[in-house]
Amino acid sequence: MSNFQMVLGTGNAKKKAELERLLAPYPQIQLTSLADYPTALEVEETGTTFAENAELKASVQARHLNRWVLAEDSGISVDALNGAPGIYSARFSGEQATDASNNALLLEKLSDVPSKKRTAFYTCHMALSDPHGTIHIRCEDQCHGRVLTAGRGTGGFGYDPLFEIPEYHATFGELGTSVKSVLSHRARANRKFVPLLLALIASLNN
Ligand code: IMP
Repeated sequence: MSNFQMVLGTGNAKKKAELERLLAPYPQIQLTSLADYPTALEVEETGTTFAENAELKASVQARHLNRWVLAEDSGISVDALNGAPGIYSARFSGEQATDASNNALLLEKLSDVPSKKRTAFYTCHMALSDPHGTIHIRCEDQCHGRVLTAGRGTGGFGYDPLFEIPEYHATFGELGTSVKSVLSHRARANRKFVPLLLALIASLNN
């Protein structure tokens, strides 16, 4: 099978590691990352949806690098906060936000919300752009759970220590990479992405 070279268009090292792990079973998909391109841009996320931001990050970077680029936009939507922080998850607590400051703000905003009403879901939208900036694949999926009242576990990143997977009674912080790489929003979106990419690779080689 022919090889296909694709740049992972994320500057987030934890996200990049998760995507690399998810795509590792497909050696014909040869991955590089923004770290391999010193001239890579920091694309501003000016969209109003996960889809718009993912497509923007993919197409602007792809044109700039003249490469195929896979970008993803993701975040957590909390029902009791009417879907916030959503696309603003990375910057929830401001421009200088850290995972710790974001988690602290989320706990503060939910301080009066009882356990049953702390439902939330992660979304991951993936977009693949060709070197001209045309999007060939778009897919999205979610992972549903609940925000705890205190963090548990040190695995994952972002809101993972607070995000409990109900079936497991454990957070992504506690569950470890092998479980997260099956159940997460990124894993679910990737399961939609891979067959579409393999079909695209086959069509490019015909
Ligand atoms: P993006 O880089 O604009 O897509 O922002 C993604 C943000 O959403 C991250 O910085 C985290 O705050 C949050 N997020 C996305 N995916 C995950 C995840 O798998 N675990 C925990 N937090 C996540």
